Amino acid sequence: MTDTEIKAIREIRINPIVPSESVLVATARSMRPRKAEDPAPRDTRRHVDTCPFCTGNEHMTPPTIASYPDGDNWQARIVENLYPVLGDDRSTGNLVFGLQQAIEGYGRHEVIIDHRQHGIALHEMSEEHLFLLFGAYQERMTQIYANDARIRYVLVFKNFGPAAGASIAHTHSQIIAMPVVPENVYNEVTHSRTHYQKQHQCIFCSLIDEALTFEATIYDRASGQIRRRINVGQYVVERGERFIAIKPFASRYEWEVHILPLQHQSNFLDITEHDRADLARVLKRTMGRLDAVIGGAQYNFFLHSQPRGDDFADCDASYHWHLEICPRTSIPTGFELGSGLFVSTLSPEEAAERLRSVDLDSPAA
Ligand SMILES: [Zn+2]
Ligand SMILES: [Zn+2]
Ligand SMILES: [Zn+2]
Repeated sequence: MTDTEIKAIREIRINPIVPSESVLVATARSMRPRKAEDPAPRDTRRHVDTCPFCTGNEHMTPPTIASYPDGDNWQARIVENLYPVLGDDRSTGNLVFGLQQAIEGYGRHEVIIDHRQHGIALHEMSEEHLFLLFGAYQERMTQIYANDARIRYVLVFKNFGPAAGASIAHTHSQIIAMPVVPENVYNEVTHSRTHYQKQHQCIFCSLIDEALTFEATIYDRASGQIRRRINVGQYVVERGERFIAIKPFASRYEWEVHILPLQHQSNFLDITEHDRADLARVLKRTMGRLDAVIGGAQYNFFLHSQPRGDDFADCDASYHWHLEICPRTSIPTGFELGSGLFVSTLSPEEAAERLRSVDLDSPAA
């Protein structure tokens, strides 16, 4: 344990993948009294008669696109979004007027009802169920790409809690198929490609290797005293056979955790059933740890995978898909919104330590 040696931290940490993204870690002081988000009032009901996503109310949603398994006994169900942010129902064409450019809001917006049970949380779902859910994501993403050559990116994400943008309490995730590559993914893909061109290594693989093996001690040049001991293994939150959950060194959100395949893989669509089973297990355990430490927190998760297109075809070796889990435990301040510099008052090392020390395997847990 090296945590006792890490006292107050005040430093700007540069995201190793996207250097323009950085976070100010300032643990000693309250730079601002940061108002914590209230935990989402947890709706734990199993069934709600008026909920359009509950069983028996299938007629209240737009038509079913797919059910897993098919039929009345569905465990997950995909429907069109009633209020899509992007649609393929009309064509207005692109618009260029002087410096103003608009790309048509073309695409698809679908909802995945994650589970029959209204208020179940991810960590309460069985591994078998999460296996099925990731299978639903994979199959539907594959179909959307296959059906429409104009789609460049299919984003799968989940909002839990009103502060994270969830408008319906019944557990669900969303699929948005877009004609452009979203900026976050674009930045990751292009920066990791540049890294690969220089280092001939996938930067995500290097970060995983460091997380698993690297230890270093930094000495003060003048006094010879230990300035800091870095045990990078301290960023590992959960490790499975094929996946790892890591607390990024420069996390934007205090409790942000990323899940990545241990073996290099650029595209989520390439995962095997065996991969999916281990992903389900690592996600369930990671969410269980988050729930034990910051129970009921509102969060988003999103899947970042290789985009489609000739300009990204060469990213197989340099990009590495992952799932980002971002609990919203505080409201961004004006400083953060105005500067783009996120502030973390909890060190990523301490957050990882607290998550890791949750005993998930004891009968009481
Ligand atoms: Zn419901
Ligand atoms: Zn990699
Ligand atoms: Zn990402």
